[in-house]
Amino acid sequence: MAPVAKCNIETLEGDSLSCSIRDHITHSLGKPCSEAGHRDVAMALSMTLRDRLVDRMLETRMRYREARAKRMYYLSIEYLLGRCLGNNLFNMKIDDVCRSLVKDWGFDLEEIREFERDPSLGNGGLGRLAACFLDSLATLDMPGCGYGIHYEFGLFKQSIENDRQVERPDYWMAEGMPLQLERRDQAVIIPIYGRVEDHQGPDGKYLPLWVDWQDLMGVPYDIPIVGFGDKTVNYLRLFAAQSTDNFNMEIFDQGDYIKAIRQKVYSELISKILYPSESISFGKELRLIQEYFLVFCAIRDITRRFLKQNRNIEELPEFTAIQLNDTHPALAVAELMRLLVDERRVPWDRAWNLTNRTLSFTNHTLMPESLEMWPVDLMQKVLPRHLQIIYEINRRFLDEIRIVSNPDDATLRRMSLIEESGGKQVRMANLAVVGSHSVNGVSKLHSELVKKVLFPDYAALWPGKFNNKTNGITPRRWLYKANRGLSALITEAIGDGWIMDLDQLKKLEPLAGDAAFQEKFMAVKRANKERLAAFVAKTSGVVLPPHAAFDIQAKRIHEYKRQLLNVMHIIHDYLRLVEDGYEPPEPRVYIFAGKAAPGYFEAKEIIHLICCVAKVINADKQAAEYLKVVFAADYRVSLAEKLIPAADISEQISTAGTEASGTGNMKFSLNGALTIGTLDGANIEIREAVGEENFYLFGLTAQEVERQLAAGLYDPWEYYGKHPEIRRVLDALSAGRFTPEDPSAFHWIFEKLLSRNERYLHLADFMPYLETHQRVGMEYSRPEVWAQKAICNTARMGYFSSDRTVREYARDIWGIKPVPPK
Ligand SMILES: *Cc1c(COP(=O)(O)O)cnc(C)c1O
Repeated sequence: MAPVAKCNIETLEGDSLSCSIRDHITHSLGKPCSEAGHRDVAMALSMTLRDRLVDRMLETRMRYREARAKRMYYLSIEYLLGRCLGNNLFNMKIDDVCRSLVKDWGFDLEEIREFERDPSLGNGGLGRLAACFLDSLATLDMPGCGYGIHYEFGLFKQSIENDRQVERPDYWMAEGMPLQLERRDQAVIIPIYGRVEDHQGPDGKYLPLWVDWQDLMGVPYDIPIVGFGDKTVNYLRLFAAQSTDNFNMEIFDQGDYIKAIRQKVYSELISKILYPSESISFGKELRLIQEYFLVFCAIRDITRRFLKQNRNIEELPEFTAIQLNDTHPALAVAELMRLLVDERRVPWDRAWNLTNRTLSFTNHTLMPESLEMWPVDLMQKVLPRHLQIIYEINRRFLDEIRIVSNPDDATLRRMSLIEESGGKQVRMANLAVVGSHSVNGVSKLHSELVKKVLFPDYAALWPGKFNNKTNGITPRRWLYKANRGLSALITEAIGDGWIMDLDQLKKLEPLAGDAAFQEKFMAVKRANKERLAAFVAKTSGVVLPPHAAFDIQAKRIHEYKRQLLNVMHIIHDYLRLVEDGYEPPEPRVYIFAGKAAPGYFEAKEIIHLICCVAKVINADKQAAEYLKVVFAADYRVSLAEKLIPAADISEQISTAGTEASGTGNMKFSLNGALTIGTLDGANIEIREAVGEENFYLFGLTAQEVERQLAAGLYDPWEYYGKHPEIRRVLDALSAGRFTPEDPSAFHWIFEKLLSRNERYLHLADFMPYLETHQRVGMEYSRPEVWAQKAICNTARMGYFSSDRTVREYARDIWGIKPVPPK
């Protein structure tokens, strides 16, 4: 490579690309090109793309401005982006050019891409959904951007040591993050703590003054989000916390240098780490401050942009929609009110109307332990003015419903924003519902349960406010990029229109029974499995037979997701093999992946169990031909992209009524895996779409689960007594069959699964699960039958594109329209 000085990056043809990469190696990295290694090329390539993306981003902003377009801002405490470099190359359609370019220099593009760390600024489904929406918004040329937190440490890195999960901090920027732009000039000052003084304004009206607050600074980092085809580039704006100078100066002036520094460190702690669970509420001061930090920075930034265009604040809802991704940003209700009432002096009723028309809320879970509540005492200390505003919202709201529907006291208590029993707490879900004009669930079943179980009183009061938006996934990352083989095969068969219009996959349907196409389809699957097998051999030493059925459960480890049911079935398979001499019709490979929240005992033990079972089975010669079990460490987007294209069978086995939607289920099915699953979340809609003959259904319905739990009907001992299969598995666990050195290690599982208040009804669904797996095995051993079903899955998954989901939000909730380039 020869060094160059400056070059034109307007056209990303080979020459200018090459020129710009070399420019960055020399002038941004300070290295002679002759000494550049893989990492340097990766960095310089990212910087080259950033230059181009920034140009497009500025152009996109002008285009929105000229169109006077309404904007949508997505507020989410998590974004699970996954690696950006490859995604950008594919969305910009320059992957081939780049591949051959770096090849000329003696580098391999795939190897270069491996140098990027996943930015894992999320836990799982909720953060990944946010990332898919950003991709779809940009692809659809829609004015929609994301706001979040620039965590210094993302979700912990997981390794397995001595058959257990070990967590290590994820310093994801270790290699630098060349894609992001720091925007110090747009930093936001955030008030916090202090107290409220009551005053009267000149007009004699109540004028509260928030005084003695301390301040923090939020520094924005923009990550460009490029749509497919490289026309529209939106942004994800992430705020990092820093101390302000005046925060420290006062204390410095008092001469307490150490205290001043300590305060500085404390304020920078706010964006230090992502809390490692999305389904458990934390109740910690730092987390409340994180939520407030996000909300304050976002609302300030959004209104500043809005007012800069010489608009009247009264027009806010005409030009701005703000979507709250779960209750974590629900303080936006109070903060927008505070900004309007205290800062812009808008009368309360008017401010309330504007707030309500601007905000909308997505609920993500029915699990009681994830419903956020914040102690009033804590809020009084951290956010005294916001608490006062929440009380005022509540007072007016309760007065109003007393007039409208004359509810009884119990109803009023349920609808109040304040939980009064025990210590007083603010109910964030109620705040979000009352303050928003739209409340949606994320699958048909979930949205029904949101109305019936979670918010029956609100649904009766405001039936029109509640709606469903079934989740989706971006086909760009989850098929086009992750599964290059299948992607090429599909394009060869039906053209490449499916990438922007996933419904076109329907055109594959006539080919489902075509022997030649089946063969090609299964050859792609086989190649993906071989690639995954090579990766597993390299990373964990286990050798997987690629002709086996690859059965994968990859998702967070949680009792409701029932990894235990899966393990019990594997143990059953194994014991039948070694004790009964039963030979299954096909060999099976079971792969698990997923992280357990560090404080979640049962989840961490489930990982321990999987690893112990895997060790025993993989070492057993009698089982070698039929059974392998692998726990793939450090589940994250880049690992998901390796696992999912190689799956024959997708495990979606949560207790009905517990998984709000799931999106992992969609990724697998789109990539031609067959689902074994319950009638839960979006599984129901996936089954309807792909056809019931192409989906392995088992288990109780949500209604049946609910009935059993409500009436206390579930009696696990009855199942234990009735079914020798269940007894054998549970007894093996209790007797320490998989932990000879510590025989009582898994006795807790025996106890838990046989306890009358076991909430996830493992034993009730176990026998149907076994029987259904038996059928899966029989059908897998008939390749033409299987291929047809697999192709039908891919062909009929068009509905689950996040493009469809985003269009529905845009039409029904946000009121935004595409603004394509002319
Ligand atoms: C899609 C995805 C999830 C969500 O999976 P579910 O099966 O829906 O829980 C979690 N983590 C990662 C890395 C994902 O890509």
